[in-house]
Amino acid sequence: MVQMNNVTMIYDSSGTEALNGVDLEINEGEFVFLVGPSGSGKTTIIKLLTGEVQAASGEITVNGFDMRRIKRRKLPMLRRTLGVIFQDFRLIDKMTVYDNVAFAMRVVGAANKDIKERVPYVLELVGLKGREKRYPQELSGGEQQRVAIARALVKMPKILLLDEPLSNLDARLRLQTREEIRRIQKATGITTVFVTHDQEEAMSISDLIVVMKDGVVQQIGKPQAVYDSPVNLFVAKFLGTPPINVFDGEVKDGHLYIGEEAVLTVPGVADQSVTAAIRPEGFILSETGALSCDLSRVEVMGRDISVVSTHPKSRNVTIRSIISAENAVNMASQKVRFDLKPNKVFLFHKESGARIDFG
Ligand code: ADP
Repeated sequence: MVQMNNVTMIYDSSGTEALNGVDLEINEGEFVFLVGPSGSGKTTIIKLLTGEVQAASGEITVNGFDMRRIKRRKLPMLRRTLGVIFQDFRLIDKMTVYDNVAFAMRVVGAANKDIKERVPYVLELVGLKGREKRYPQELSGGEQQRVAIARALVKMPKILLLDEPLSNLDARLRLQTREEIRRIQKATGITTVFVTHDQEEAMSISDLIVVMKDGVVQQIGKPQAVYDSPVNLFVAKFLGTPPINVFDGEVKDGHLYIGEEAVLTVPGVADQSVTAAIRPEGFILSETGALSCDLSRVEVMGRDISVVSTHPKSRNVTIRSIISAENAVNMASQKVRFDLKPNKVFLFHKESGARIDFG
């Protein structure tokens, strides 16, 4: 459905290289998330796919259209195959919910018969049945959002493009609406590209995530696979809540040292200074544990507890380890000791941040 090969994009006005050598393939029925901090090039990808901007070099195909050769007059044909929802979607205030959705079909010259058939179907799909006669100002934020989704879906696009569609909603509504989008995507099987800077949003519902930084794709994969095997320090830090714990470490004779303590065997790694990163769930509380930290406090989370501690070699102000609530932490002690789960510890090159495999 979408193929991007070695795509570079430069905005003439600012001279900014927004994308550099992007390769991306999106197949039919996939739910793909583009994630990355603000300014990493996510929206630029959406703009390239809709033909709003042109690539400086590389190849892009969208629904069979070659975006390098597409003529201006052919753009409407391409756009008919795309449903786009931006963060600042606008509904037409003077039109009812029904008419807002029907209008999206009228502007592309759909027959009345089709409109009558499809609008009620789509409104039911997004859970707006019974709200047809309301005006946008008589709807909640979440309902307005659903009208925007219905409006994009009613054209039966081949691809749905959503650019930060939930950022104007409060936390609860966000969660609800994102589940709704997932449900609609499953029900329709429509290929969906979703842009967000919120990694939690992406992790929870996507088939595939594309992690971006500074216009460069860092890693593409299933959310769990990327989480379990990040290619570099940036990706490791970007995914996960609470975030990964980062330490300055030293590899000597096949052992990882954090400070004076040998905390893990790392066979096959040459002696060097490294960045060591440990997922919060990678700590095992143990009186004889290899890593000793200064205990700050314990936060109760119900099923789990979050042990908050510090260490001179930690790059984070505090270290967060998530441990089953069945474990008791001796609060009288100022120290807390951990063993580490090897598959939850990652080593990275000190300078480049690239992953160093061990074991
Ligand atoms: P994201 O969606 O990840 O926040 P964007 O794709 O919007 O990132 O932006 C990528 C880079 O391109 C940023 O450095 C941004 O400042 C720049 N940029 C985006 N839009 C324009 C524009 N219209 N003109 C000039 N520079 C732009």
